Amino acid sequence: MTQKLLELIDKRVDDLVGLTVDLIRFPTANPPGEAYRPCAEYLGERLKRRGFEIEFIRAEGVPGDSERYPRVNVVARFDGRSPGPCVHFNSHIDVVEAGEGWSVDPFAGVVKDGRVYGRGACDMKGGLAASVIAVEAFMEAYPDFPGAIEISGTVDEESGGFGGVAHLAKLGYFSQPRVDHVIIPEPLNKDRICLGHRGVWWAEIETGGEIAHGSMPFLGDNAVRHMGAVLQAFEDELFPALDRKRTTMPVVPEGARRSTMNINSIHGGQTEDFRPGLPSPNVPDRCRLTIDRRFLLEEKIEDVKREVTGILDRLARKRPKFRYEIRDLMEVQPTMTERDAPVVKAVARGIMEIFDREPDYVISPGTYDQKHIARIGHLYDCIAYGPGILDLAHRPDEWVGIADMLQSAKVMAIGLNILLRGGRE
Ligand SMILES: [Zn+2]
Repeated sequence: MTQKLLELIDKRVDDLVGLTVDLIRFPTANPPGEAYRPCAEYLGERLKRRGFEIEFIRAEGVPGDSERYPRVNVVARFDGRSPGPCVHFNSHIDVVEAGEGWSVDPFAGVVKDGRVYGRGACDMKGGLAASVIAVEAFMEAYPDFPGAIEISGTVDEESGGFGGVAHLAKLGYFSQPRVDHVIIPEPLNKDRICLGHRGVWWAEIETGGEIAHGSMPFLGDNAVRHMGAVLQAFEDELFPALDRKRTTMPVVPEGARRSTMNINSIHGGQTEDFRPGLPSPNVPDRCRLTIDRRFLLEEKIEDVKREVTGILDRLARKRPKFRYEIRDLMEVQPTMTERDAPVVKAVARGIMEIFDREPDYVISPGTYDQKHIARIGHLYDCIAYGPGILDLAHRPDEWVGIADMLQSAKVMAIGLNILLRGGRE
């Protein structure tokens, strides 16, 4: 029977390419959240023709939502002939801006040399198209299947997912008993299963000073110099300490298999808007620094924060007039699905059938919508699995391979079959 399923997927190759091209042609750049509604409607209408129940859910009032840029999500559901588990394929329809350096039109969906090019081809409209083809072929091969299948197209993943998966999770769309297993076709490479991601803490540190005339800086107190002391302490102590913290999580690339911190931005003193004139001679009284700390399953967020505040408190004791404030901007706990979870085992079986090898199990260095499914939906049987080469995401001339999409559609269809039959093949 599986042979027939795989043949049905092969037969759909033109449809798979056409669907990917169509999806890329909706320029769903985020920010600002362009063309979300028509893209969601396009996907909804296609699945409606296949007998799915369609819901459009707008996340009204979330940051970014407006009449011009409505945060429209689509959820499609098909109930089988008999009761059983529900498998949900979730893809984000938003893409990052095209940026510079393209050799093709990023929103044309150019097909050449066995690839589809375009912004979002890899991350993750190719994955969305592959999951749709997998499901449609499966439904043709097994019209009497038990359980239910859902496909969603959600927004704002690239900006945190608050208008997308987080919003739907709050409404119960990602919880049992409605849903049992979730596959997110993010571009993690066709023979790898992504079990989860590291944690995130974003914070803003602000040092204070006192404004004075720049010709007599000794009369004031320079907030930028205080921040310089913070950065120096980070260089001397914090960065080396983070480098030494290794994790057992199989994070890829391997460089991310430890704690990291990025200095995201720094702003102190006058901005550049004095141009084309000259700045006025002031001692800056404020300096702000944004940090982006990625932490491990082995770390507790309280300790992660204490490492930073410990340095700041010590500076406050040692350095005359040093004072600071720190504000949390975002926190996400690390998450890792167990290797023997049903969705992991089912997709691993598919990878073994298609590629004749064991999958690699990986952890993403950055987060994606799985965090909301775990934290808000309390659903832990969730992975990311999809075609597309992770390193191409967000870059110019982004592409997805047609053969890769076909193979990963087969893996998804085999996994779906196993999950709907309660783990039996
Ligand atoms: Zn993505």
